[in-house]
Amino acid sequence: MTDQIVGQQDQLELDHSTKMMIETVRDFAKARVAPGVIERDREERFDRDLVKELGALDLLGGIVPSEYGGTGLSHVAFSALLQEMSRTDHLMGLVMSFPSGLAGSGLLNFGTEEQKQEYLPGLCSGDIMFSAAVTEPASGTGVADMQTICRRDGDEYVIDGAKTWISLIDVCDYVLTFATLDRSGGRNAVCAFLVPRDAPGLTLRPFKNKLGFRGVASGEVFLEEVRVPAANRVGEEGQGYGVAMSAVETGRLGVASRALGIAQDCLDRSVAYSRERLVSGQEIGRFQLVQSMIADMVIGLEGARAMTYDYALKRDAGDRARREASLAKMHASDVSMMAATHAVQIHGAFGTHEEYHVARHFRDAKVLQIVEGQNQLHRGMVAEYALGYRGGR
Ligand SMILES: Cc1cc2nc3c(=O)[nH]c(=O)nc-3n(C[C@H](O)[C@H](O)[C@H](O)COP(=O)(O)OP(=O)(O)OC[C@H]3O[C@@H](n4cnc5c(N)ncnc54)[C@H](O)[C@@H]3O)c2cc1C
Repeated sequence: MTDQIVGQQDQLELDHSTKMMIETVRDFAKARVAPGVIERDREERFDRDLVKELGALDLLGGIVPSEYGGTGLSHVAFSALLQEMSRTDHLMGLVMSFPSGLAGSGLLNFGTEEQKQEYLPGLCSGDIMFSAAVTEPASGTGVADMQTICRRDGDEYVIDGAKTWISLIDVCDYVLTFATLDRSGGRNAVCAFLVPRDAPGLTLRPFKNKLGFRGVASGEVFLEEVRVPAANRVGEEGQGYGVAMSAVETGRLGVASRALGIAQDCLDRSVAYSRERLVSGQEIGRFQLVQSMIADMVIGLEGARAMTYDYALKRDAGDRARREASLAKMHASDVSMMAATHAVQIHGAFGTHEEYHVARHFRDAKVLQIVEGQNQLHRGMVAEYALGYRGGR
C-alpha cells in the first residue's frame, strides 16, 4: 500500500485540474443536487435533467478516453469526484460512474471501434443512458447460472428471459444485457447485447417502495423473443461474462467511492450535531461513548479510503487488482453502514427523520453492501487470496 496515502488523504497529490473538478462537483452538488435530494428519495423520482447538466460540466466522462468523448481521468481522480458528489447524493455518483463502469467499461474493453464511437460520446454527454442488466430472479451472485437464452438467427440474435433488480430502467435508452447460448455452458457461453429500449418484446417494470436507492428506479426486465442485430453484440460470442466482469470491476471502485462519500457526510453531520446538541447542559460530543462512535467513523473512513485509493492506484498502473477491488468495495460499504448506524444514533430521534439526511444514508448504505457482489462474496474472496485458494490478479 502506498505510504503516502494511508491515513493521509490530504496528502494524496491530486493535480490542479482534478482539484478544480472537485470544486465544480461541490458547487453543482450544493446548487442543483442537494435542493431536491429528499424529495427525489421520497417520491422515488429520477431527474434526467441533472444528467444532462452533469454532462455539460464534463462530469460524466470519468476514465473514458477523450477520443470517445470522455474526460480521461485517472482512477484516483475518478474516485475523488465520486466521493465528493456522494456526500450529497450517491445516486448522482452512480450516474457519474456509469459511463466508466457498468455501462461503458464493457464497451471500452470488448466493443468494436464502431460501437465505441456510437455509444461512448453519448454516455459521456448524458444524451444516452444505459441500464446494465445482469441479475436474474434465480441467479444474482451466481452470474454464470443465468437462464436468459439467446440464439443466432441470420444477422440477428433472438433473446428470451428475464432480469430483475435492474437500475435506471425508467430512463435508460438501451439495456446492456446478458444471455447464454447454452444453459449448461457456464461462463464461456455468455454473450452481451445492447437492446434498445423500444425493441419489440422488451418490457421494463420498475419496483416501488424499496429500502434504499429510491431516487433511481430498479425493477424487472422481460425479454420475449427480442431480436437485436448481430452488430449489437458486445464482444465475441462467449465473451459476455468478461464484459460483465469488466463492468463490475470498475463498478466496485464506484461503489467504494460512493460509500466513502456517504460515510464522510455521516461523520461531518455527526460532528456538527455533537457540538450543538446539549444534554444535561453539555455538548453530547463530551460523552466518551459518543466520542467512541466518532472515533469508529474516523478510523473506518481513513482505512477504507486508503484501500480505495490503493485499488485506484493499482488500476492506474494497469493492474486488474481484483483482490484490492474486493477489499475496497467490501470494507468501504461496511464502514458506510457502520457510520450511518452511528450517525442515526448520535442524532437520536432526529436521526430517524429524513430532514436530517442520515436516515437516507442508513438505507442506502445497506444496499451498497449488497450490490456489485454482496459482501459475503467479497469476504470469501479476500480469505481465499490469503489462503492461497485463489490466485492471479
Ligand atoms: C437497489 C438495487 C439495485 C440493483 N441494481 C442492479 C443493476 O442495475 N443491475 C443488476 O444486474 N443487478 C442489480 N441489483 C442486483 C444485485 O446486484 C444483486 O442483488 C446482488 O448481486 C446479489 O444477488 P441476489 O440478490 O440474488 O442475492 P443471492 O445471490 O441470492 O444471495 C443472497 C445472500 O446469500 C449470501 N450468499 C450468496 N452467495 C454467497 C457466497 N458465495 N458466499 C457467502 N454468502 C453468500 C449473501 O448473504 C447474499 O446476500 C440491484 C440490487 C438492488 C437491491
